Amino acid sequence: MATWLKRGAESEAVKSADKQVRETVEGILADIETRGDAAVRELSVKFDKWDRPDYRLSDSEIRDCMAQLTDRDLQDIEFAQTQVRNFAQHQRDALKDIEVETLPGVVLGHKNIPVNAAGCYVPGGKYPLLASAHMSVITAKVAGVPRVVTCAPPFHGKPAPAIVAAQHMAGADEIYCLGGIQAIGAMALGTQSMQAVDMLIGPGNAFVAEAKRQLYGRVGIDLFAGPTETLVIADETVDGEMCATDLLGQAEHGPDSPAVLLTTSEKLARDTMAEIERLLQILPTAAVASKAWAQYGEVIVAESEEEMVAIADQIASEHVQVMTRDPDYFLKNMTNYGALFLGPRTNVAFGDKVIGTNHTLPTKKAARYTGGLWVGKFLKTCTYQKVLTDEASAMIGEYCSRLCALEGFVGHGEQANLRVRRYGGKNIPY
Ligand code: NAD
Repeated sequence: MATWLKRGAESEAVKSADKQVRETVEGILADIETRGDAAVRELSVKFDKWDRPDYRLSDSEIRDCMAQLTDRDLQDIEFAQTQVRNFAQHQRDALKDIEVETLPGVVLGHKNIPVNAAGCYVPGGKYPLLASAHMSVITAKVAGVPRVVTCAPPFHGKPAPAIVAAQHMAGADEIYCLGGIQAIGAMALGTQSMQAVDMLIGPGNAFVAEAKRQLYGRVGIDLFAGPTETLVIADETVDGEMCATDLLGQAEHGPDSPAVLLTTSEKLARDTMAEIERLLQILPTAAVASKAWAQYGEVIVAESEEEMVAIADQIASEHVQVMTRDPDYFLKNMTNYGALFLGPRTNVAFGDKVIGTNHTLPTKKAARYTGGLWVGKFLKTCTYQKVLTDEASAMIGEYCSRLCALEGFVGHGEQANLRVRRYGGKNIPY
């Protein structure tokens, strides 16, 4: 049986925070729906101290942002975007339309059709998270989405140059400097100045994730991608510094970001806890990371790799960093995770920023039913059918007619009967 050397927040406190966020979001979305741009503008002033009549950035504002970056910055963004595009293209190439003859004369198929308009949110409240622009905008474009709108909040009172550059270089069609619930609401519901999109994409804080959740159904969403979470699975092949660095590297996202160590080594667990205390003395983002660690940090000592798999699947964490003797054991056996980072040579930051896999990943146990963002999320897999011969139509028609009768669906049955009479020359008795 595993033992917990440190436990995370009481679930009651978490539930109450969730309830507050839910109610705030509900009120704000209703306001945006009723008053459109006027509400968006007031909210933008209230939450982001950012006020202008039109939030869409002009070509000259975009050029101005690009000009504020060095050549090195632009090359680094370009490198990251190339990796993301390249992997997304491989994933797209693996998705084939199909058309098969399932019975003589019966042809069934599906086509993957991109949504017409996607709204990609790039978070930027605490840090200008430019990497999210690569992840959503590029992936949408590789999927073939014709209109890609993107929003990011102002950072220190103005558009964040690196985010705007990344949005532009990724190929966004419309770039807005707008954050939080007002950005999500405007994109989904449309306003006088913004045409609504068909689908919302991208990560964000608890307000952003909840707004997407509430709008789901009216628009599509990629997945529930809220405050970041990390799980480090390790054994004595690595040291406390490695584990502590990887835990705090994600805890710095925000005070509501869980970071969990799961290990078979009690010594490693204790070394990691000591290292975390040491690093929190020197980490410039310690104010945030220490809150996250104090409230949501967990340290679990398990008895075996098998037990670690069971616990990790239960946690269903967004990121899972595996640093054990045989990381592939976890690739083979785990079923619930957003993304796996296998072996000590890679880490979550590589995935978040540059290596090419998507960093928009499921949180709050959504990994039980979805993976992260990828081209497939932008595609609607739509089926079609054709019946090529009279014989096939009459044969299927007879089955259909009897099955409709079982359900008591007379009108449906008649659709089938008509085909049986026309193409098979038979009358179906009622
Ligand atoms: P953000 O852009 O998500 O949110 C900032 C916006 O929140 C602001 O523009 C403001 O309008 C709004 N806001 C702030 N306080 C509010 C309040 N009290 N009421 C209503 N609205 C309010 O940026 P952030 O806050 O820095 O958060 C980014 C988040 O994205 C982090 O939690 C991070 O962990 C998460 N993230 C998740 C993933 C993933 O894939 N799951 C990936 C990257 C980042």
